[in-house]
Amino acid sequence: MIDIKKIRNDFPILKRKINGNQLVYFDNAATSQTPQVVIDEILNYYSNYNSNIHRGVHKLSQEATDAYEKARQILQLNFNARHSHEIIFTSGSTHSINIVAAGYSNILKKDDEIILSVMEHHSNIVPWQMLCERTGAILRVAPMDQNGGLILEEFESICCDKTQLVAISHVSNALGTINPIESILSIAHSNNAVVLIDGAQAAPHIKIDLQELDIDYYVVSGHKLMGPTGVGMLYGKEKLLNMLPPSQGGGEMIDEVTFEKTIYAKLPHKFEAGTPNIAGGIALGTAINYINEIGYDSIAKYEKSLLDYATSELLEIEGLKIYGQSKQKTAIVSFSIKSIHAYDLGVILDKLGIAVRTGHHCAQPIMDYFQIPGTIRASFSFYNTKEEIDIMVNAIKRAKLMLV
Ligand SMILES: *Cc1c(COP(=O)(O)O)cnc(C)c1O
Repeated sequence: MIDIKKIRNDFPILKRKINGNQLVYFDNAATSQTPQVVIDEILNYYSNYNSNIHRGVHKLSQEATDAYEKARQILQLNFNARHSHEIIFTSGSTHSINIVAAGYSNILKKDDEIILSVMEHHSNIVPWQMLCERTGAILRVAPMDQNGGLILEEFESICCDKTQLVAISHVSNALGTINPIESILSIAHSNNAVVLIDGAQAAPHIKIDLQELDIDYYVVSGHKLMGPTGVGMLYGKEKLLNMLPPSQGGGEMIDEVTFEKTIYAKLPHKFEAGTPNIAGGIALGTAINYINEIGYDSIAKYEKSLLDYATSELLEIEGLKIYGQSKQKTAIVSFSIKSIHAYDLGVILDKLGIAVRTGHHCAQPIMDYFQIPGTIRASFSFYNTKEEIDIMVNAIKRAKLMLV
């Protein structure tokens, strides 16, 4: 059960007023808000033991190293990775995907194939296009249906022995669709392809068991997980990460450097060149603990009730169309209203203190598929309420009178 009053109290920003109105924050798919425990963790780091990790013999450095490595273990446990050294700290999902894509530059060959889905975030498209340019590999795209669900048979029909990599979102950030990753993994693996799952939108809502699902690579962003910006995770199976060359060189990622030859450090350090976002990593661990205290089951149940409520209330509005009506979806409603430009509605909602996102949501191919320039996206978290949804729905009705 969600104790909504207590939870809302954990997030200081939710008390903010915008233009005299109480903030209604429905842009959680872009960045989630930060609970006080996470803010305190960052403050505590800089107030008490700020120092560089892994190198110092002094007390502060030891404390920072211990806290950072403990955070790595929190991530390992949360996602159930076999080893903590399979958890690489990165600056976020984008960085994580780029590490993998860059690593395959000398592994892929001309005419090898990479499969993506049409609903990918630009972060899970562009690095692969760049990889194709470097290697001559070919990008193939699995289509979706009118409800915004992946067409699994079509995916299966393009997955073949040429397929080296499959990169697919666990949850679509623009539509909320939860993709059938178990089937995708099994089809890909039966063709000996390696699978990267973009979990940026899934990790805040769904409990993930990397070993049970047999996932090869998984990426998340801290700032969508109640954590700070500028930190994220790349998970990779030990065997794959050992084979993958590092894309960045520098301090921390080496065992031995001479001008003739450098020997790379072992995992995870091989992929962590330079001084990382230490406070961010530690605070991400705190954020994961915070989510687990509430519990993924309670979160899923509560967010589903918000999604169902918002969907039925919004559909009462004449001319409103929801994009992404897949049965399996997280609490995201992407919609448009006949003869109203998404941006204009977004501006009016902002004036009333309601934060939604308008536009293509870094997923232009989805908008092209539906032949629309963009949508209005309201994305919910476990600290949102039905009362807030009422406020948004009423605001849309008012805005409609002004705009149509
Ligand atoms: C947000 C997002 C990304 C990019 O994450 P960054 O934190 O900006 O690196 C990638 N994929 C999906 C599905 C996302 O929602």
